[in-house]
Amino acid sequence: MVGVNVNCNRYISVTTQIMAAALTSQAALLRRGSRVFFSVNCHVHSSGGVTSKEHYKIVVLGGGSGGITMGARMKRKIGAENVAIVEPSEMHYYQPIWTLVGAGAKIITSSGRPTASVIPPGVKWVKSRVMNIDPKNNTVFTDSGHKISYDYLIVALGLQLHYEKIKGLPEGFEHPKIGSNYSLQTVEKTWTALQNFKEGNAIFSFPNTPVKCAGAPQKIMYLSDAFLRKTGKRSKANIIYNTSLPVLFGVKKYADALWEIVKSRHIDVNLRHNLIEVRADRREAVFEDLDRPGESKVFEYEMLHVTPPMGPPAVLKGSSLEDHAGWLDVNKHTLQHNKYANVFGIGDCTNLPTSKTAAAVAAQSSVLQRTITKVMKKDKPDKEYDGYTSCPLVTSYNTVILAEFDYNGQPLETFPVDQSKESRIMYHMKADIMPHLYWHGLLKGLWGGPGPYRKLMHLGMK
Ligand SMILES: Cc1cc2nc3c(=O)[nH]c(=O)nc-3n(C[C@H](O)[C@H](O)[C@H](O)COP(=O)(O)OP(=O)(O)OC[C@H]3O[C@@H](n4cnc5c(N)ncnc54)[C@H](O)[C@@H]3O)c2cc1C
Repeated sequence: MVGVNVNCNRYISVTTQIMAAALTSQAALLRRGSRVFFSVNCHVHSSGGVTSKEHYKIVVLGGGSGGITMGARMKRKIGAENVAIVEPSEMHYYQPIWTLVGAGAKIITSSGRPTASVIPPGVKWVKSRVMNIDPKNNTVFTDSGHKISYDYLIVALGLQLHYEKIKGLPEGFEHPKIGSNYSLQTVEKTWTALQNFKEGNAIFSFPNTPVKCAGAPQKIMYLSDAFLRKTGKRSKANIIYNTSLPVLFGVKKYADALWEIVKSRHIDVNLRHNLIEVRADRREAVFEDLDRPGESKVFEYEMLHVTPPMGPPAVLKGSSLEDHAGWLDVNKHTLQHNKYANVFGIGDCTNLPTSKTAAAVAAQSSVLQRTITKVMKKDKPDKEYDGYTSCPLVTSYNTVILAEFDYNGQPLETFPVDQSKESRIMYHMKADIMPHLYWHGLLKGLWGGPGPYRKLMHLGMK
């Protein structure tokens, strides 16, 4: 068993400790399959509603991955009393683990913690939903009727799921045989559908919109394949991946590896197929053929996993903060808003042209901290985000292809091995180490992505 004691007061060395621990743990896992634990010694924040103070130097909108990490970083920079985070949810979820929850490899309760426990101690938690942003007057308005003004605004509102854009959903989830790892309410339905699979088509969809973690729609497919093999039902199943995209994955190196896997596992892939309707009472899914407008096909299913259409947060609409497609319009290198110099963005809500992941949030957070520091000093931002993002493509209950790449779709791999090969160590990274890195590194503002370690691992060559 490998133990790592993390003391939050010594944050400067913690990132290094965590990464070192991660690497030590991998080695240990390799050697003897031991269990890894981290014990953390942090103060727990006590939450509250809005106080009479209605102005903060920095207001962070959204208390998800990006909002909490920026709250922690800004607290260290300017003091907790000058920072507020506006977030309505009582619970904070580590969404990447839902892939494993949908496949029965983790339980849902392991993915959530009270928001009060992740808000950086002393930072104001405004437990409300922002309803309106007025960047011309440096003000936001919440659903509890409060008006909060700011000097600097960090927008970290994530994205919105649109199950309702598929005819027959969300009410179709009341029927069995259908699930979706993308929401708290439906992720366990995936596992139920998988366990109850008898015979027929197991269908996995990918929508015709940007999505978060573009690998997740097929990760659950590989896990389902593995589960059906394990339970002796695979010969009775047709596994079908119907994706709106013209490719299996956006980066060629990893797409090539995935094509080999789907071929060897006898999985049917239909490109440019977009789910438009679910007739859950009849177990039918209707897909439009994006290359033949007006044409659609009906697939019967024994199990259906839905990845919903997704879009920008509605509150950005009409705020003059959004781009033509509704996403927060930021500079792709500095993360500063293209129109309002005191507004910044991070994570899924932005129009950064990279894959939307928590790994991307980590890399963005250190750049954004630097950008804000410079802007506060009236200097020019000087650190550039290269689009780093990562997707641990789970290919079975013990293997992962760890995709890491930049804005240009160029692999940006941390480890000095070919990461397009299925790896057991990378599975343990995904299932056991990354959650710890998330809760104790990223959310504390201590993990800015693996960039420095990549350099180290490649002897300064990358
Ligand atoms: C099934 C699944 C698998 C994934 N797998 C991976 C993976 O393997 N690796 C990886 O790196 N990433 C993965 N991700 C993606 C990752 O979880 C997201 O990219 C990441 O959480 C984005 O952070 P964010 O802060 O932008 O958004 P979020 O973490 O979603 O946070 C947005 C926050 O804004 C709040 N909010 C929304 N509207 C308002 C409002 N009006 N007012 C105030 N607050 C508001 C929300 O309540 C939420 O807390 C996965 C996601 C899913 C669903």
